[in-house]
Amino acid sequence: MPFSIDADLRPYNTFSVAHRAAELFVLDTEDELPILLNRIVEKPLPTTILGGGSNVLFAKDYPGRVIVNRLKGFAVVYEDDTSILLQVGAGENWHQWVLHCLESGYYGLENLSLIPGCVGAAPVQNIGAYGVEFESVLHELEAVHLQSGERRVFSKQECKPGYRYSLFKEPDYEGWLIIAVTMRLQKKPIFVLNYRGLEALREQMNLTATDVSQAVIALRQSKLPDPTIIPNGGSFFKNPIVSAEKAGAICEQFLDCPCFPQSAGKKLSAAWLLDQASWKGYRRGDAGVYQNHALVLVNHGQATGAELWQLACDMRDSVDEKFGICLEPEIRVI
Ligand code: NAP
Repeated sequence: MPFSIDADLRPYNTFSVAHRAAELFVLDTEDELPILLNRIVEKPLPTTILGGGSNVLFAKDYPGRVIVNRLKGFAVVYEDDTSILLQVGAGENWHQWVLHCLESGYYGLENLSLIPGCVGAAPVQNIGAYGVEFESVLHELEAVHLQSGERRVFSKQECKPGYRYSLFKEPDYEGWLIIAVTMRLQKKPIFVLNYRGLEALREQMNLTATDVSQAVIALRQSKLPDPTIIPNGGSFFKNPIVSAEKAGAICEQFLDCPCFPQSAGKKLSAAWLLDQASWKGYRRGDAGVYQNHALVLVNHGQATGAELWQLACDMRDSVDEKFGICLEPEIRVI
């Protein structure tokens, strides 16, 4: 049976919190999809979908069905001299997929190296790092509606990618299970090197996409905890986008405040704001903030989801009090 009752969620979330789900369904192959769809009709329950479980915090036991998407495989859909369209199973590990593309000579994902999670989460979250957002390679995706069983292809435009946002974050679209994602990758790399830490690569002779990937991996490893060693969910909050007036007032008072122009307003660094409120390295029982990054909450051992969520709320409130900015979670809190 691909499902179990009253399941321990610890192996399925990178915060490693030990909450339980009423039912857990691990979808390993498409052959199991009819079993899942029948089960949903037979026993309706609130549902949540996980990939690598790296962007979710269970704040308590979940009285519903958790579906873990482990659908694997990939296929070439189209290829010409300059680019290739590849369809990838949503349950493939993201970083392994990035490495596979680099080895095969397909480029565009190098700045997104070492992001935890699965391929299916990339379009949901429109993952981004070091100046590259997933939408730059997204072509389309295929999904199945868990209630009706309808299969549908969503074009990139229909996915409505935004800053750590897509249509699939809207409550009306949470019932779509992403089966496979199609990406357009380039056969010649186009380097994006405008972020701190990557700028030095501009001077490097014969720069390769693998060099960029390795630099990104080194940067991430120097700042971010490995979830298999210190359980965490990556950045807990989104960087806030505020009005130019608001950003100007803060930057006038704090000369070192990082501030980046956007199409509307300015983006501030959530990590910097939290740093000003002295959260880096803070610990309360087993719930804590990583010593090298104020945006990353960590579970030092036996922290509960509720303890981590309380800590996140206190961090959010302190930034609101100090700067009048309410940080929004990037992590899905359940
Ligand atoms: P950082 O270099 O200390 O910069 C802080 C923030 O400023 C970043 O989050 C980034 O926003 C923004 N920023 C920096 N340089 C920028 C530029 N040239 N143009 C526009 N915005 C700029 O950041 P960090 O914490 O070490 O993170 C580096 C990258 O890895 C970032 O892109 C970050 O998003 C990504 N990252 C993601 C996660 C995750 O779990 N999702 C965790 C850690 C880091 P953006 O976030 O919008 O890029």
